Amino acid sequence: MRLVLVGPPGAGKGTQAQFIASNLSIPKISTGDIFRANVSGGTELGKLAKEYMDRGDLVPDEVTIAMVRDRLSESDAQDGFLLDGFPRNVPQAEILKKMLAEFGVALDIVLELVVDDDEVVRRLAGRRTCSQCGRIWHVDFDDKKDDVCDACGGRLYQRDDDKEQTVRHRLEVYQEQTAPLVSFYADEGILVGVDATGPVEEVTQRAMEALGPFTD
Ligand SMILES: [Zn+2]
Repeated sequence: MRLVLVGPPGAGKGTQAQFIASNLSIPKISTGDIFRANVSGGTELGKLAKEYMDRGDLVPDEVTIAMVRDRLSESDAQDGFLLDGFPRNVPQAEILKKMLAEFGVALDIVLELVVDDDEVVRRLAGRRTCSQCGRIWHVDFDDKKDDVCDACGGRLYQRDDDKEQTVRHRLEVYQEQTAPLVSFYADEGILVGVDATGPVEEVTQRAMEALGPFTD
């Protein structure tokens, strides 16, 4: 199965990507992993990407796309894959479609993890990070009443990334970028939405049920 996973920050996408890929016995291919592999492997694309990253610049689309193409050409991806973090926008989706057509294949499904904004805010803005050991606690899920780390006694704080205003802004950016991508795949007739609220295992189970009709 050739699958793309999309979902907002705080939807547990990384975890679901791993579980779903392992259930389907296909490689999970995330742009983060591809970047790290190219940079640590010292490939030409990795060196190029590193130049941009070292300057604090965004890695250009062409470099990302070339890395994705290389990765999808590897032998373990020939019978299927789960892509996480690519495509990010409609132009990338169109490039991916062409790329796969050149390989003589196509995407089977795009799975969208659906969580409403308030739930994402509850999940992310409730996180508290230990200033000493880095462990993350949650005010609701861990029933954390004080700002002291139960593991090491360090002081807990809220990372800027987890502040409600920042989370809402990230969600807006996500919606702006992803709404057109989601409609693109809806038009292609391969979009499936899965409710991503609730325990991790339940979400995986829902995802597997949604994918059922598409598996052989
Ligand atoms: Zn700690």
